[in-house]
Amino acid sequence: MSKRGQTRHLDIRTHPTSSTGKEDAGVFFIGTATTILEWRGIRVLTDPNFLHAGDHVHLGPGVTSQRRTNPAIELDKLPELDCILLSHYHEDHFDRIVEDSLNRDFPIVTTPHAKRCLTSSSRSEPFKSVYALDFFESMLLECRNSSETGHDESATPAIKVTGMPGKHVPPGPISKLNDLLNAVPPTNGWLLELGWATGMRDISHHGNPASEFRTSYRIYISGDTLFVDELKEIPKWLEGKQIDLMLIHLGGTTIPGALAPLVMVTMDAKQGLQLIRLINADITIPIHYDDYDVFLSPLTEFMKEIEQAGLQDQVVYLDRGDQYRFTV
Ligand SMILES: [Zn+2]
Repeated sequence: MSKRGQTRHLDIRTHPTSSTGKEDAGVFFIGTATTILEWRGIRVLTDPNFLHAGDHVHLGPGVTSQRRTNPAIELDKLPELDCILLSHYHEDHFDRIVEDSLNRDFPIVTTPHAKRCLTSSSRSEPFKSVYALDFFESMLLECRNSSETGHDESATPAIKVTGMPGKHVPPGPISKLNDLLNAVPPTNGWLLELGWATGMRDISHHGNPASEFRTSYRIYISGDTLFVDELKEIPKWLEGKQIDLMLIHLGGTTIPGALAPLVMVTMDAKQGLQLIRLINADITIPIHYDDYDVFLSPLTEFMKEIEQAGLQDQVVYLDRGDQYRFTV
């Protein structure tokens, strides 16, 4: 079934126009929306999904999907991690094996809906360290290795996480029906600000830590959203601050599936281009584009859109197992 142990030459990519050779941070692409973001000893795992080609996920009443790809590494081979960032509670982003095997105390930052599911007292083993962020709410994650300091000796490297708007179902009657059926869960995007915190030592300070935090690098992750009006709030909220790197969930996920393509619930190539124009990030990396049979918009479609728009210099393509290095 799965092709474990397959070897392939894995690439390290940098900014297409300005590599210094001394990049101090990276995004490692594992597959679907699963990545490891690493900077100064802090490691954040996004949307953990370690299923293999041929495995199935359940995505709502009557909707299942088969995985077509393998993750770049196995779940039990992961390096030490600080937290999981979970955009929404859907099996192609948090599969059952991950859910069963994860230590109950492991920190997870997610949506209020996913927090309710993961911590529910009706579960046999509820998770105990789940932090919910609504749209535009923030919290600070700090480095395990707090001996590292910045230019200012009292500052430690930290990542500030802010929930960003997202809509996994199109607005209108389908959205109303979805609210009734509770079929497709609500989703967040994320803004990750890599920077320096002063006077804070513990992981997971809730609330707005902005007064004690200096941002050096901004990463926006779209989450499983469509291109909806709510996303236009993001540049307004940023007030002109530049996004350095965007991870964009594509795939044009269409349910219930290819045989009955009724409702698209993630961005396809055209919507991806719209989001690139809206966010205007320095670099965009597409993820979540070919791993399941409900992903009907292939990456080649997106590449064509980008080429026609003349935006090739703003996009870096990663295969599973590739890493993008950058400087904070
Ligand atoms: Zn998804």
